Amino acid sequence: MRAVRFVGEHAPPAVQEVEKPVVKDSLDVVVRIAGAGVCRTDIHILDGAAPLQPAPPPPFTLGHENTGWIDAVGSAVSTVSVGDPVILHPAITCGLCMACRNGEDMYCAATRFPGVDGMDGGYAEFLRTSVRAVVPLAKGVAPATQAPLADAGITAYHAVRRVLPELHSGSVVAVLGIGGLGHIGVQLVRTMSPARVFALDLAPERLEFAVRLGAERGFSPADPGFPANFMKASGGDGADVVLDFVGEQNSPEVALGILRRGGTYSIVGYGGKLTVPTVAMITREIRMLGNFVGNYRDLVELMELQRQGRVAVSAKEYPLTQAPRAVDDLRQGKVLGRAVLIP
Ligand SMILES: [Zn+2]
Ligand SMILES: [Zn+2]
Repeated sequence: MRAVRFVGEHAPPAVQEVEKPVVKDSLDVVVRIAGAGVCRTDIHILDGAAPLQPAPPPPFTLGHENTGWIDAVGSAVSTVSVGDPVILHPAITCGLCMACRNGEDMYCAATRFPGVDGMDGGYAEFLRTSVRAVVPLAKGVAPATQAPLADAGITAYHAVRRVLPELHSGSVVAVLGIGGLGHIGVQLVRTMSPARVFALDLAPERLEFAVRLGAERGFSPADPGFPANFMKASGGDGADVVLDFVGEQNSPEVALGILRRGGTYSIVGYGGKLTVPTVAMITREIRMLGNFVGNYRDLVELMELQRQGRVAVSAKEYPLTQAPRAVDDLRQGKVLGRAVLIP
């Protein structure tokens, strides 16, 4: 089968012929991939800045944001059958450790992360994972373009869900970065809370996109009037919550500059550094939250919102073999929404 693989730092992803995966464990499933989303984490891996350290050595197949149809099942799999359309939680978890018992999938002591930790991912015609990662899709949902919900969507959902207790009518949420995650984040804040949503991005077309998705207004941090214009629009105090889907370059400074006293800086994107004087934490009583993907339950709840039509992915489709071009387009900011590879 064809697969797109990480073959070394600073090399483009390589389209290669590899063995089709087979069921090895009784809880394994092999999924015929319908769509695989292209994530900034893939770029971090290609650039030698993998999120999991020590970085797994090449080669391995990228892709941790996958949908498809069940192709084969292990002997203990009873909840799905061959042919079922599914979306896949990015992690494989053990189900037995205390974190798993608590529903904290991303804290699992024995977790695997196909496409990220060196295990082969879904930039391929087929993927092996565990039935524990499988969320069946509702009838009539075409799997390919839902792939971004498996990672971009679940992560945005997890981040929004965790700040919901702070969001009241009139609260202000700043969504920083209107990309693959941010465009879903705007919709989720709108549908899950009564808060006002302000979008922040450098690109005017992304700010217009955010307004079409329900943001009240867009702001560019490069605008000479920023952050004064943002503060004024917020009512003077700034944002109750900043959801930072960028997490690099100057995004921490932008976020902390518009956060009100007692506000929450919720970090989702990564790659940069965060330096905050402790006195600012004290006098402003700022809270900070890191977000790493989300739990199985987050994905189930998100797919229910998708089924109800309350959140929709904007997907730009590429053939699987065009993965290098999709990655380049993401690097250059040419993807509005999320790039999805179609085998
Ligand atoms: Zn990702
Ligand atoms: Zn576990």
